[in-house]
Amino acid sequence: MKNGFLFLSALVLIGCGGSSSKTPETKPTPSNDITLYTTLSGKGSIIPTQITVKKGESVNFELTPEQGYNLANVSGCNGKINGQNYQVKNVTEKCTVSVEFTAKQYLISTKADLQGKVVVEQPEISHGETTFADIFPHTDYDIGDVFGCNGQLTGTRYNTGKIHGDCRINVAFTPMHPEPEAPITRVRIPVVVHVFENGIYGVTDEQIKAQIAQTNLHYRMQNTSELNSINADTKQYVGDTGIQFYLADTDPNGNPHSGIIRIDGHKGVGDNQNYSFARPELGGSAPWQNDKYINIWVSSGRNMSGGVAPLGWAYVPTFAPDDYIGVTVAQETFGPNNTEFPYFEGKTLSHELGHFLGLMGHTNNDVDHKDNNHANQPCDADIASNCQNKNISHSNFMQMNNADNTMKMFSKGQVSIMRNWLENGPLEALYLNNLE
Ligand SMILES: [Zn+2]
Repeated sequence: MKNGFLFLSALVLIGCGGSSSKTPETKPTPSNDITLYTTLSGKGSIIPTQITVKKGESVNFELTPEQGYNLANVSGCNGKINGQNYQVKNVTEKCTVSVEFTAKQYLISTKADLQGKVVVEQPEISHGETTFADIFPHTDYDIGDVFGCNGQLTGTRYNTGKIHGDCRINVAFTPMHPEPEAPITRVRIPVVVHVFENGIYGVTDEQIKAQIAQTNLHYRMQNTSELNSINADTKQYVGDTGIQFYLADTDPNGNPHSGIIRIDGHKGVGDNQNYSFARPELGGSAPWQNDKYINIWVSSGRNMSGGVAPLGWAYVPTFAPDDYIGVTVAQETFGPNNTEFPYFEGKTLSHELGHFLGLMGHTNNDVDHKDNNHANQPCDADIASNCQNKNISHSNFMQMNNADNTMKMFSKGQVSIMRNWLENGPLEALYLNNLE
């Protein structure tokens, strides 16, 4: 091409000699005319896009980003930026001005109630784009009002509208359970569930969540149809503990966590010698600090003859080494709607947590436990009865080895034992660390 251009120039020089014979079809640029070109990326304009000037002249390019865009870079022709203008002085040769506009970046922030988490897919986003936030309420809360960033909630996902500026997604969580009646207050305790995966049985995340939700119904006196089946004389002694559990959403280092730890290995619930569930050196899963969380270990409950025994254990504060307190539950009895008749309604966890919360014994008048402190405590304000009161005992979560479908209630006396144990007893630190 260069060679061809030189050839044309030579023709022009001949033409200037005065010959009237032919005019070249392409009029050549006079040697002191210089063309400036432009290139553009992003959304915006540069004006003029191309211009031919005399050598030594100056050119002013006007740069205008589209709405939502910034001028990111302009260069070429030895020009200088001056506000929205790019000034090229003393043009000496053909050259190109390159301009780049980039979309403005916006920040999407969140503001959420304490009872859940919000995770924005793209917290930094370009003008005009959309993103979404996934909302994770705690096990005992629902998603409430969500607004901001011109979005819409679909299930647990909040899809934003097109983003045209910094904005904030606001999330409220609403309690699944009512405020307890004074003087009982709502207490919420995060739990971490360690699951031993043994390749034979499995416990899904959904089962774990459903079990905790079920236990909350028991502790909050919300298992309404069951309670309605208790006889009228006993019903007046049913107690609301005010205590709710939820899967931890933060690990002890402050990192986001599901609250579920899956351990590769087999343990039977009966294999609890030396607190091996809680000891990694014995194949266990180390507990999280138990002044902030309650540790729950779930494993096979099968004994050698194939039955489930025991259903669970509680490692009760002051009765077990501090490092190993928590509860274990046979996975066959873990979760409502499991198949292990008659322990198939998710009552075992509620029972073991009862022990953990200070209800030492069983309401049955069983030989093993009749001397324990719980069975001998006044259970309720009526007729100085204790927890061996027949009806209260029969329907109680703290009876031993009875079918799940008979276990329906904690008594008011049991509630006061649990609340004392929690607020002024061995679990005081756990209580204080979880005050909202
Ligand atoms: Zn028990």
